[in-house]
Amino acid sequence: MIKVTGYAAKHSFSRLKKYEFEREDAKAHEVEIEVLYCGVCHSDIHQVKNEWHNTVYPCVPGHEIVGRVTKVGPAVRKHAVGDLVGVGCMIDSCGQCEACASGDQNYCMAPNSWLATYNGPMQPKSKVGENIYGRDNTFGGYSNMLVVKEDFVLKIPAQLKPEVAAPILCAGVTTYSPLKHWGVKAGDKVGIIGMGGLGHMAAKIAKAMGAEVTMFTRTREKIEEANKLGFDAVIEDDKQALKDLEASFDFMLSTVPEKHDINNYVQLLKRNAALVLVGALEPMAPVDNMQVAFKRRTVAGSLIGNLAETQEVLDFCAEHNIGPEIEIIRMQDINDAYNKVEKGDVRFRYVIDMASLKE
Ligand code: NDP
Ligand code: ZN
Repeated sequence: MIKVTGYAAKHSFSRLKKYEFEREDAKAHEVEIEVLYCGVCHSDIHQVKNEWHNTVYPCVPGHEIVGRVTKVGPAVRKHAVGDLVGVGCMIDSCGQCEACASGDQNYCMAPNSWLATYNGPMQPKSKVGENIYGRDNTFGGYSNMLVVKEDFVLKIPAQLKPEVAAPILCAGVTTYSPLKHWGVKAGDKVGIIGMGGLGHMAAKIAKAMGAEVTMFTRTREKIEEANKLGFDAVIEDDKQALKDLEASFDFMLSTVPEKHDINNYVQLLKRNAALVLVGALEPMAPVDNMQVAFKRRTVAGSLIGNLAETQEVLDFCAEHNIGPEIEIIRMQDINDAYNKVEKGDVRFRYVIDMASLKE
């Protein structure tokens, strides 16, 4: 067994505190990783606060992980001791269902095989706490050591700084995957709603794909920040701007983290264009299907991305020399960081320097 130090929440209302636990040693196909950096995703906050009603406590969050391989099991072929590697939102899937067979491990249909990096077995709401899958809860990247199956470990390109690479493992792939799936290409007009961790990454990736990007924000100061990063920006309740943009976007992505009214945005889509919601994983306000039907528009959702896409987006960011805007924090400052993310004060992703755990 490996002794591990991390940070955990004990209840939905508790602050995160230092937490010592053990992980099993790396098995034949597994890799042991010393965690160097871990991004702070808004999902971590939803999960710690049990806002998705499926959290098992203690909860050690963290799914934007970059670290160094310290040990490999005897059957490991893809990674070697000393490699700089990444782990995103999932660490296992069945490998056999229709989704896995087509490479979409993130949509694995066998719930007792698919495993999230933390709060892993994802019990249905009615069964929380019952451990129906007979396996332990998983603990994520807010910790100094991780053990993961080699297939779920990604390679960090040498051109990316490890702390910059970390948020690409969730914020990057969650936005890259729908941009790619819906075929965004050079010259397209793309709208991104919510300029946070996911939103600003979506905009950078879309721009690197050659699209023209407009950011929709509720925060006036972010207009200038968006312009500096090379995007147009619109305050989301500017009625005239919304009118001027009617039926002009080829693709839109909402990263707003809670239930919101999307009808104003649906009207901005061209004929056949899609608005994809990745932020709010909950029931949404009603959509006026008259607006959807008359231009054969699509309103859709998307969940993280598959393993191939995760490696692709890391390589894409390295090749195009892009990455998230980050602020490094100490593990000890995590509770304060959560408050700031909720208030929208972060610019634009906090990344925990795991060396701070030794202080
Ligand atoms: P952030 O908090 O970093 O960004 C969200 C942005 O949305 C804010 O910066 C803000 O931008 C805007 N916003 C609009 N309304 C609100 C509101 N009521 N409260 C807070 N922000 C608001 O979050 P992330 O980018 O890390 O995550 C966004 C959402 O995506 C989360 O709900 C997360 O759980 C989800 N997620 C989903 C995944 C998936 O697979 N589908 C994967 C990863 C995350 P502005 O100031 O510009 O308005
Ligand atoms: Zn995330």
